[in-house]
Amino acid sequence: MKIIMLGAPGAGKGTQAKLIADKYGIPHISTGDIFRANIKNGTALGMEAKSYMDQGLLVPDELTVKILLDRVAQEDCKKGYVLDGFPRTIPQAEVLDQELVKLHDQIDHAIDVDVPDENIIRRMGGRRACVSCGATYHIEYIKPHKEGICDECGQELVLRDDDKPETVGKRLDVYHEQTQPLIDFYDRKGILKTVDGTQDMQDVFDAIVAILEQ
Ligand code: ADP
Ligand code: AMP
Repeated sequence: MKIIMLGAPGAGKGTQAKLIADKYGIPHISTGDIFRANIKNGTALGMEAKSYMDQGLLVPDELTVKILLDRVAQEDCKKGYVLDGFPRTIPQAEVLDQELVKLHDQIDHAIDVDVPDENIIRRMGGRRACVSCGATYHIEYIKPHKEGICDECGQELVLRDDDKPETVGKRLDVYHEQTQPLIDFYDRKGILKTVDGTQDMQDVFDAIVAILEQ
């Protein structure tokens, strides 16, 4: 099962992708997480990606496509995967398609987690991410057991640099301009499904499972 999560930054793609990955035993692949791991480890890729991420811009397609294709070529992706935050541009989607065609394969579902911009601003401002494992929480909606501490690994939770109010507006503009056109792209292929992402996390997940098990 190969799934793409679409939606604005902060719509809940990562939250749902993790639940899908756990339920179906497939890898959750987030290009944002891969970039953040590289930043943390001080790699050249990380340094380059950071210069775009801190401004709320997309990392160039050449760089992003390469890391994604390397990742999906790994053994654990044979039975499927859930992509979170990729593709984010039409050229990225086209390259992914071409690579899958070469393997006589295709994406099965593109799921758009639909959340209006007003809610997005509240979601991103309240998002807290673990400095160590990248798990995400929300200060109001999805709280860790102990404030400021990750349930999974016990490390500190922080506001991501790119979730600061001055960057969120730019990220939303970039989303509407460069990423939203993917909704039509996958609709034309007949694999788009939309879920109401303003519902509680569990209700959004139930709606997604209903789609995957149709
Ligand atoms: P994305 O991966 O799309 O950027 P996240 O999954 O990180 O978004 O979610 C953004 C923020 O909103 C996080 O703080 C997350 O805990 C919170 N969140 C996710 N889903 C919901 C939901 N259904 N209701 C309320 N808050 C949510
Ligand atoms: P995310 O964790 O998905 O919100 O991504 C955080 C940031 O990483 C984005 O704002 C972009 O700067 C960068 N990024 C992640 N995925 C992509 C992608 N597919 N294409 C370009 N940039 C990306």
